[in-house]
Amino acid sequence: MNFQQVFGTEPEVEASAPGRVNLLGEHTDYNDGFVLPTAIPQKTTVQLGFSKDEQHHFYSAELDEKVDVLESTHTPSSFASYVFGCIRLLEQEGNTIPPVNVYVTSSVPIGSGLSSSAALEVATLRGLRSLLSLTLDDVQIAQLAQQAEIHYAGVQCGIMDQMASSLADTDSMLFLDTRTLERQVLPFPKGAEVVVIDSGVPRTLAASGYNQRRADCEEAARLLGVKALRDITEPQAVESLPEPLRRRALHVVTEDNRVLEAIQGVSPERFGELMNASHASLRDAYEVSVPALDTLVRMLQETRGVFGARLTGAGFGGACVALVEVGKAEAIAQNVLQRYNGSGYTGRILVQ
Ligand code: ADP
Ligand code: MG
Repeated sequence: MNFQQVFGTEPEVEASAPGRVNLLGEHTDYNDGFVLPTAIPQKTTVQLGFSKDEQHHFYSAELDEKVDVLESTHTPSSFASYVFGCIRLLEQEGNTIPPVNVYVTSSVPIGSGLSSSAALEVATLRGLRSLLSLTLDDVQIAQLAQQAEIHYAGVQCGIMDQMASSLADTDSMLFLDTRTLERQVLPFPKGAEVVVIDSGVPRTLAASGYNQRRADCEEAARLLGVKALRDITEPQAVESLPEPLRRRALHVVTEDNRVLEAIQGVSPERFGELMNASHASLRDAYEVSVPALDTLVRMLQETRGVFGARLTGAGFGGACVALVEVGKAEAIAQNVLQRYNGSGYTGRILVQ
């Protein structure tokens, strides 16, 4: 069903936003640290028009689900909470938003860690900016999108996903200081491109594991007398912490340092080593990997033409990202997927 078939009118505007994959800087964003995502080719597109009645109407083609929302209702559940959250936040900023029809379609895999949620929020806000001629820059859009996700979808997220979706492109890396929002758009390491493969393992323990890690980091920062672990630059400084806080803090401090090295224009070989070191740290010190991710990462790292690989996202399942020689992404992805699935998993290629 298209917009016309769902709403009985033609759309007024259309807007899109991409998903993202994080190349380096994992579990650093809630420590005020550094991240290095890039946009992926898949994107979410929204079409918008004015509603003919008093309600907002949202439709998702992927879910084949339509939700009607009275302006006065509480937060609707499901995907509508992301869209409605964006509308509500714009209203809280003093904008008047009339009832709208929103049609969502997307090629970003939903729930695989490539940030379909941020793509949905950023596309929605871009669409509303265009429909209503709102004055909003890309950073404001990212900030509103993050607030929508926290307050309306109920997900305690950092700012990385929304900044990446709003500001990154597929040809560059976006370096972001999550404390100051200082950022740089940087070229990929020379002659390198990105592969992303989903492990097929659902991120079941992700929510509880994530909250526990966040609490560990806050406690570690408190014991070290700093506002956030971002303020520690020397790995030796965490040695006095009790376990497991020492290991958790060690990951964050070394991961921040890896990002800061990676943005100095290093070779693809060195960038790959930093990714490999990131995975080892996530596995051994931060303890958010699982056997399937370790297997997939090892298979990628062993493959000719791969500079480096690591789990990406919060861990406990989800996807792996690799930096590979330009022109070899497809062959490498197919080859690794075949071997990985041959050992009993059901992975799939997300970006090649
Ligand atoms: P990720 O952002 O990694 O894909 P999340 O769990 O953060 O995973 O977000 C997934 C949720 O975002 C979905 O459950 C749904 O509510 C919403 N969502 C994202 N994209 C769409 C879409 N195209 N249609 C409907 N809902 C979507
Ligand atoms: Mg998300």
